[in-house]
Amino acid sequence: MPLTFTHTVTERFLRYVTIDTQSDPESPTSPSTEKQKDLGRVLVTELREMGVEDAHLDDYGYVYATIPSNTDKKVPVICFCSHMDTSPDCSGKDVKPQVVKNYRGGDITLSADPTQVIRFAEHPALKNQIGNDIVTTDGTTLLGADNKAGVAEIMDAAHFFINNPDVKHGTIKILFTPDEEIGRGVDNVDLKKLGADFGYTMDGESAGSVEDETFSADGATITITGVSAHPGYAKGKMEHAIKIAAAIVERLPREGCSPETTSGKQGFLHPIGISGALEQATLSFIVRDFTEEGLKEKETLLEGIVKDVMKDYPRSTYKFEVREQYRNMKQVIDRHPHILEYAIEAIRRAGLRPMRTAIRGGTDGSRLSFMGLPCPNIFAGEHAFHSRLEWVSRQDMEKAVQTIVHLAMIWEERA
Ligand SMILES: [Zn+2]
Repeated sequence: MPLTFTHTVTERFLRYVTIDTQSDPESPTSPSTEKQKDLGRVLVTELREMGVEDAHLDDYGYVYATIPSNTDKKVPVICFCSHMDTSPDCSGKDVKPQVVKNYRGGDITLSADPTQVIRFAEHPALKNQIGNDIVTTDGTTLLGADNKAGVAEIMDAAHFFINNPDVKHGTIKILFTPDEEIGRGVDNVDLKKLGADFGYTMDGESAGSVEDETFSADGATITITGVSAHPGYAKGKMEHAIKIAAAIVERLPREGCSPETTSGKQGFLHPIGISGALEQATLSFIVRDFTEEGLKEKETLLEGIVKDVMKDYPRSTYKFEVREQYRNMKQVIDRHPHILEYAIEAIRRAGLRPMRTAIRGGTDGSRLSFMGLPCPNIFAGEHAFHSRLEWVSRQDMEKAVQTIVHLAMIWEERA
C-alpha cells in the first residue's frame, strides 16, 4: 500500500523560525539563553495536541517525547533528534521568511536588503531546485533552517504516525536539544530517560545525503618560555617568546594541512589563538582529521616544527600539550551497520538517490555516538546555514519527512 502524505512541515517551519532561539557561547547557564524554551514550549504543546502524551520540556531546555510502538514485534527503539537553537554568528531575531514559489532558476535577491543575493553561480545546489518552493529570509537575519527544518520534519513525521495508525513502527523517541551551535547540545541530555537504542540527527544539507563520519578532533597548546632581559642590554641574552611563537606560525605548511587549502577527507592544523609577552607566549591549535593516525601525524608534524624552531633558541623551553576534543563517530556506527543501511534504504524509498558524505566538523550525533547512542546524520535540506543567505525548499523538507517515516517502517519490517 503506497503511503499518502498530507504534509505540515513547511507551515510548521514558517512558524518555528519566527521564534528567536539564538544560543550564546558566553553564557554559563543551561540552556545558554532562556528564549530557546519558547520554541520548546510550542513544540510540547503541539505534540500534546497531536496526542503524544508524555511530551515535556525539562529545566535544561530539552524536549523529550515518545510515539508508542503499534506492532507486536520487538523493534529497537529509534530516536530522531534536532537542535532548536540558531547560530550566534548571525541574528535570529524577527526572522521574516519569504517563499519563492516554483523557482525558475537564477539569482534570488532578498527583499529587505538588495545587497543580499543568493547567486545561482555560488549556490550549486540551486540547480536541483527548479520548480520547487524555496524559503529564504528577507536578508536581515539568518533563516534557522539549521536546524528548525529538522525540528519541523520530525514534528510532521510524528503527525503522520499519529494519523496513520496502520503504518507499523516500533517505539519512536523524539529529542529536541538546545545549544548545539555552541557545542553544548548534549551536555545535559538524559540518555537513560530517553531510552533509545539508536538515533538519527536530522541536520544534514542536500536531499538524499546521510553522514556517518565526522572529523576526529584534538586541541593542542604550545607554551613557550623565552629569556627576558632589559632591551637596552639584551644583546646575546634575550630570547623573545613572541618571536619564537611567530616563527612557529611562519613555518606551518601552506599547501595542504590548513583549512584554506584542504577539503574532502583531508585534515588540517589550524592556529586559533596566540598571546604572549617577552618571557612567555602561548599558541593554541585545533587539529582535525578523519583518522586517529592522521591526527597523530599532524601533531608530530607540529611538534617537529616547534623543536626545529627551538634549536635557534637554546636557552628557551616549550611545553606541548594535546587534549582530545571529539572522535569520528564512524568508529561507533561501523559496529552497527544496520543503522546506516536502513537510512540509505529509507532515502531510496523516499525517491531520492542516497549520498554518503563526511562532515568536516562535529555534530551532536558524534558526541551522542560515543555516549552510547550511535547516531548518523540525515539531510534536513538546509543550505548556506549561519548566514543571511540561508535557504531550504519545501520539497526537500517533505522528502526528509518521508525518509523518517520509511526509516521507522524499515526498522519494524526487519525486526
Ligand atoms: Zn545544525
